[in-house]
Amino acid sequence: MSSVFLKKSADSFIKRKHPWIFSGAIEKVEGNPANGETIQIFSSNKTLVGVGSYSPSSQIRVRVWSFNPEEKIDKDFFRKKFLAASQFRKRIVDTSQTNAYRIINSENDGLPGLIVDRYADYLICQFLSSGSDFHKKIITETLDEVFNPIGIYERSDVEIRIKEGLEPTKGTLSGKEPDDLILISENGLKFSVDVKNGHKTGFYLDQRDNRKLVSEFSRGKNVLNCFSYTGGFSVYALSSGAKNVTQIESSESALDLSIKNIELNNFDVSCVENINGDVFEVLRKFRDERRTFDLIILDPPKFAESESQIQKASRGYKDINLLAIKLLKPGGILFTFSCSGHISQELFQKIVADAALDSGREVKIIKQLTQAADHPVALNFPEGLYLKGLVCYVE
Ligand code: SAH
Repeated sequence: MSSVFLKKSADSFIKRKHPWIFSGAIEKVEGNPANGETIQIFSSNKTLVGVGSYSPSSQIRVRVWSFNPEEKIDKDFFRKKFLAASQFRKRIVDTSQTNAYRIINSENDGLPGLIVDRYADYLICQFLSSGSDFHKKIITETLDEVFNPIGIYERSDVEIRIKEGLEPTKGTLSGKEPDDLILISENGLKFSVDVKNGHKTGFYLDQRDNRKLVSEFSRGKNVLNCFSYTGGFSVYALSSGAKNVTQIESSESALDLSIKNIELNNFDVSCVENINGDVFEVLRKFRDERRTFDLIILDPPKFAESESQIQKASRGYKDINLLAIKLLKPGGILFTFSCSGHISQELFQKIVADAALDSGREVKIIKQLTQAADHPVALNFPEGLYLKGLVCYVE
């Protein structure tokens, strides 16, 4: 087996069991490991400390599979990890109400670069690191054995793979190819999910608990759902009797599917207004028209893809939050989110506070939100926490 020898600077990372080793922390590589191949990891004093996968073209040069140097990265290893992840999900997901949830959350389930989501009887996966891609065959076989799905479909059609020296790809890995739309239940509500072409693996499973919370604030309200995708938050708002819902979304196909989802649950589509447009522009138009709302949801895409984009992203978050606060009636509620890992909880709160200040309105945080529990954050991997949300009361 090939080996990497680390610099002294990596010692503290190894001690804290962080699963990423950056290129700058590597003293030398012995052997000629292929992309994704398993290698031994030696600390600066030449002690064998673990095994990982080697990724020659990525800044994250090694992802640690195990800090047990004896560990073999084979079927037994993946079976053990899958069973542990499954055991945990059994504790936190009420499968009588919800049959779409994350089964494997990459580094946070001890499997760097591997995402597996269950949608009813199908598994949809992403292989985001060269290490997980290297073991695709045995991972697929073991997923079949442990979870027994009707089919396993890959959605690795993402740019991030290029950094790992891999091509974006998608398609059926095992069993039956899923239909274009899979019907799922979430908290007893129904959704059609486009697992082959939708965002991520098809649905924003991480917002499940926050969608439920929106329903608790929606009775009799007029709701504005910004960045509405396939209508997740809208369906929940209607489920508890929202008076009407306005959706703003730039993707026409997502808006079309949102109508389907509202109909699937037998809610009245005549109280839904769809705007196919840019949230930044539409909110300005609403301001000029003096439109107001009781409840506004801001769930934008990731504005900061890297550290260098933090400033620009902050301006974007401030802009939409300021506009939204101004559109709220007195006593209105704002659900505002950021899914950019590079924007910390602290910074996000500061941005919303700046927006509140400029709006001249009194704004209170009434709840702090994060990703659902099937997207856990391993404490040795703080990067796993990416979704931040605030529920604000606007006087
Ligand atoms: N809240 C949704 C997920 C939102 S994801 C849910 O719970 O399912 C962000 C969405 O914003 C995507 O659907 C994307 O197409 C859309 N989007 C991105 N930029 C936009 C913009 N400037 N204006 C309107 N929609 C935008």
